Amino acid sequence: MKNGEERISTGKTREGEDEFDASLRPHTFEEFVGQESLKENLRIFVAAAKKRGEALDHVLLCGPPGLGKTTLARILAGEIGVSIVATSGPVLEKKGDLAGNLTNMQEREILFIDEVHRLNRVVEESLYPAMEDFIFDITIGEGPAARSVQLPLKKFTLVGATTRAGMITSPMRGRFGYVGRLDYYTPGDLEIIALRSAKILGVECDKRAALELGKRARGTPRIVNRLLRRCRDVADVKHSGKINPDVVRQTLAMLGVDDEGLDEMDRRILKSMIENYRGGPVGLTTIAVVVGEEPDTIEEVYEPFLIQSGFLKRTPRGRMVTEKAYKYFNIVPGKRNNGQQELL
Ligand code: ADP
Repeated sequence: MKNGEERISTGKTREGEDEFDASLRPHTFEEFVGQESLKENLRIFVAAAKKRGEALDHVLLCGPPGLGKTTLARILAGEIGVSIVATSGPVLEKKGDLAGNLTNMQEREILFIDEVHRLNRVVEESLYPAMEDFIFDITIGEGPAARSVQLPLKKFTLVGATTRAGMITSPMRGRFGYVGRLDYYTPGDLEIIALRSAKILGVECDKRAALELGKRARGTPRIVNRLLRRCRDVADVKHSGKINPDVVRQTLAMLGVDDEGLDEMDRRILKSMIENYRGGPVGLTTIAVVVGEEPDTIEEVYEPFLIQSGFLKRTPRGRMVTEKAYKYFNIVPGKRNNGQQELL
């Protein structure tokens, strides 16, 4: 499996993955596990907007892939009782693409733009008056006869999602009424998600197994669900169909996921930094070339978890591995793998 394929929330390109994700997606705030303060804030906004009969303020959701941004956008629509139109930054190539979406929006409906940081400038700028004044500027005709027309829009809500909050321009960010951050989930939250998903999938999974999965899922619901699915395969083929801690350990060993939740690519990133660059500082593009992965994927998918779990840090001069990473590989800083002192 190539990890880059899963890096963006609309890009769940593995076959069956979309339907799988959709079948496990919570539909209400009650079903949505964790992220308590974010949920509470959104609940209040929804209740207030409903009370006033107005459209919800535009919402920006930030956080690594697979944490529930798309799910929350759908829940918002469900709670308000309106439809949601989903698209993504790279899909909206031209102003006309955006116009098509916006002019079809009904009062209070939600336009969900995933990867909103990838909108090109022209499209992004045409979104500003739409968000602020609910108008869309278009130019009719060409040359000297061209004239600008302002199309009125219905009062819709834009829900933007991004894995790269830092790449959102400040005029864009300023037009969102609320900016919410999703954090990595605790093993306990992921245990609950695994048990819920197992129930939906109709597979028996004991609590200890669910917690074990929760500990190794990189704090990410999409990953816990994916691991659960692989465990189900192993349980079906090699065991009685029930997922217990043995099945989990066996499955994760097969997948190369270790006790810390690190996978093959995580280890390659850290190890190549230690072996080739004495632990850093080293630039992102260099790391990307060495491990053969896209810089964006490393930055959006791998790095946040490695930083959060204390294996890697960002410095002004580049990325550096931490002492924890050396310990993980049993390597003494300043020494080569084989025990020889490194030439400094
Ligand atoms: P993102 O848009 O942030 O990449 P998604 O909303 O697509 O993430 O979530 C990925 C999958 O993880 C969803 O299909 C859903 O099944 C599951 N999921 C995400 N957040 C939660 C949660 N808080 N509780 C239960 N399941 C969740």
